Amino acid sequence: MDDLIIVGGGPAGLTAALYASRRAIKTLVLAKNYGGQAALNSNIENYPGVESISGIELMLTARNQAEKFGAKIADADIESIIKTESRFTIKSTRGKEYSAKSILLALGRVSRKLGIPNEAEFLGKGVAYCATCDAPLFFGKNVVVVGGNNSAVDAALLLSKIAKQVYLVARRDTLTAEAVLINSLRLASNVKIIYSTVVESIHGHDFVENITVKHLDTETTEEIITDGLFIEIGYEVKADFLGDLVERNEKGEIIIDDYNHTSLPGVFAAGDVTTIPFKQAIISAGEGAKSALAIYDYLVGVKHN
Ligand SMILES: Cc1cc2nc3c(=O)[nH]c(=O)nc-3n(C[C@H](O)[C@H](O)[C@H](O)COP(=O)(O)OP(=O)(O)OC[C@H]3O[C@@H](n4cnc5c(N)ncnc54)[C@H](O)[C@@H]3O)c2cc1C
Repeated sequence: MDDLIIVGGGPAGLTAALYASRRAIKTLVLAKNYGGQAALNSNIENYPGVESISGIELMLTARNQAEKFGAKIADADIESIIKTESRFTIKSTRGKEYSAKSILLALGRVSRKLGIPNEAEFLGKGVAYCATCDAPLFFGKNVVVVGGNNSAVDAALLLSKIAKQVYLVARRDTLTAEAVLINSLRLASNVKIIYSTVVESIHGHDFVENITVKHLDTETTEEIITDGLFIEIGYEVKADFLGDLVERNEKGEIIIDDYNHTSLPGVFAAGDVTTIPFKQAIISAGEGAKSALAIYDYLVGVKHN
């Protein structure tokens, strides 16, 4: 039996593994895709200490660092976690069982996809899901933002300061973002809001060159020439397999306190899967480090609440 099983191999999980193994906590990391969302970015420029690095390389280095200090790392898609008297038992979809004294849930989240042709092929070649991360790559260019909620309007505002022209394509005939954000957006002279419209397809050779949109009210289509397509239609937490093991909010995020405790003693959570605001690689890494220190305290009996 391990002291700690970390489910998730993104910035939160791998940083927790590094910190836990340096505290001599017997640690096993289980994940289906190592690197998590960070590995999807071919050029991370806002991780302190490294000016520019591919997400895969950053995460591979973090993985090697954790293994160097003794963390064990394995591939597994986890489908259930059960608490018994003195331990937690974890089961993978392949029927393998693991058990540990404590659990860290670092499951991250996934961007909602439009589900249109070429969306996956153009990821990192004009298609983006994170304006905070990728907006600087579109300096002086034309971009389209899809969505009408806070994150879409926020992305359009950010891009209006960087790009030449921004189109905000919203499915509804109104934006659902907060009024203060919408008012700021209306003041931006290089933003055009296109209501009641959906993106149908993406075109280009190596990079995005144009998209086809459909206006729902007139049933007509139009081509928009653009260098980038920011899809800002929200994120999904995929943690339903947890059942009612730990408390979650209405978005499905795991509720944690300052020490990354969940509602169930012995189960901790860190990173994008939790209720913390601002989801970024450095924030998840920091939360992973914090949770490992809190888990150490739990294992040696130091109480924080
Ligand atoms: C395209 C893109 C670009 C980005 N660029 C940047 C950037 O430039 N800078 C920045 O700071 N942030 C960026 N972000 C955000 C950043 O990547 C995330 O905030 C960060 O990766 C979250 O880390 P995490 O460890 O909490 O979760 P994730 O990275 O989502 O990792 C979750 C891990 O859990 C595993 N997992 C989930 N469910 C299970 C299960 N049932 N069984 C086993 N394993 C499971 C996954 O396989 C994965 O290993 C970007 C995000 C995206 C989508």
